[in-house]
Amino acid sequence: MSGFDVHRAGARRSRFRLFLLAAGTALLLAAGMLIAQNLGVFTRDAVAGDHMLVSGQAVPDPDSEKPVSLVAAEHAMFTGPATRPDVRRMDVTVRRGQTFASVLSKAGSNRTDAARAIAALDSLYPANLLRAGQALTLYFETGDEPSKTRLAGLSFRPDPERTLTVSRNARGHFHAREATTNLTREVVRVTGEVSSSLYLSTIELGATDRVVFELANILGFAVDFRTVQPGDPFDVVFERFVNGRGETVRTGDIFYVMFDGRGAPLEYFRYETEDGEAGYYTAEGESARRLLMRMPINGARISSSFGMRFHPVLARNRPHNGTDFAAPRGTPIMATGAGIVERANRFGSFGNYIRIRHANGYQTAYAHLRGFARGIRSGVRVRQGQIIGYVGTTGRSTGPHLHYEVHLNGRPTNPMSLNLPTGRHLTRDELTLFTPARDKLIGIRDQAPLALKSPSAGAAVSARFRSDA
Ligand SMILES: [Zn+2]
Repeated sequence: MSGFDVHRAGARRSRFRLFLLAAGTALLLAAGMLIAQNLGVFTRDAVAGDHMLVSGQAVPDPDSEKPVSLVAAEHAMFTGPATRPDVRRMDVTVRRGQTFASVLSKAGSNRTDAARAIAALDSLYPANLLRAGQALTLYFETGDEPSKTRLAGLSFRPDPERTLTVSRNARGHFHAREATTNLTREVVRVTGEVSSSLYLSTIELGATDRVVFELANILGFAVDFRTVQPGDPFDVVFERFVNGRGETVRTGDIFYVMFDGRGAPLEYFRYETEDGEAGYYTAEGESARRLLMRMPINGARISSSFGMRFHPVLARNRPHNGTDFAAPRGTPIMATGAGIVERANRFGSFGNYIRIRHANGYQTAYAHLRGFARGIRSGVRVRQGQIIGYVGTTGRSTGPHLHYEVHLNGRPTNPMSLNLPTGRHLTRDELTLFTPARDKLIGIRDQAPLALKSPSAGAAVSARFRSDA
């Protein structure tokens, strides 16, 4: 587990120091109630050993970072292609006669959460100001089980200049904040060598958690993050939106990525094809995506790999046709590629079992599941990265783990050593459009200021901890 996971404690400490710096600046700039409250939360969480990003705005407004379940996301970030967190967004319009409380409970919030969210909002926006026609965006944490759905927050624009956001922090408290809407877009660059981890190195140079999350998504098909070494060069160019106070309110797209670790150097350019599909391509127009992702779960440890092994239950040597991932019961399992579910049911010693048929003669199988995600049954089409089930220990199994198999033309193959076909290669016609777009991005990259040295960089550090927190 080199590269990303091993230095997490150091990352926490270092981020905590950065945070103290940022908090000091923030205190000088504004000693508002909200900041003071957040500070208390941050400090306690950090001392308790939780990651400090647990606190604060988990559910930002449209002008802020996308909702991300940061604990899970950050833990998983570089152990595999990251999954989308389970936050459900719901857009509603207030109707005549409705109140905040009735809108929230109609949408599925319990009364206590609704009351707390409304109370948090009161100083910025008393509930009796709400009028019919007001659009609201509600966020619900869906957890890993439908019954655990709960209100995570809401956001809305009472007028064109203001966006108000209420969000739940890790301890269940709701906080409200106000965001300005006059944003300046800038393209910045984060480049250097991996120090302790790619995650920490990019963050220290001014990337946000969301940028790193996206970065992991882009590189995750080609890079085994356990092999990343200190000294590996990286280069990332992305856009961000800065408000009048010089704070990064949100980050946008990553335009360019370079990473030179083990294996051939990787370089990807963002490109939107004429059919409107945005993706990342090598300089030659080959998609960064692969037919299958490397791993079906985030943050897991490989507990038994492909090949001969001593079977713990049968107590004898037998071939192991798959890879076992040790992970806590209930950990979401993703379909590693798009395809059609061939079976999703009980299957002998495999327990609860899913098999998916993909393009090019590939099949994947997932065994010992605790249960299936909603709607997963034979004949259903699934997307790459879609959650299909949860880790369990059904069938012949000694503890919670996922047994994962990849078959090519009916024969088991080692998923960790597959040289998988890419998702897409730009055609000759597409390349005539791609090539100048790529060269333009190279120019943008070469002119982009470093994220910490751009005109707005002074406030960016403290802003990062407010918007990402
Ligand atoms: Zn196994």
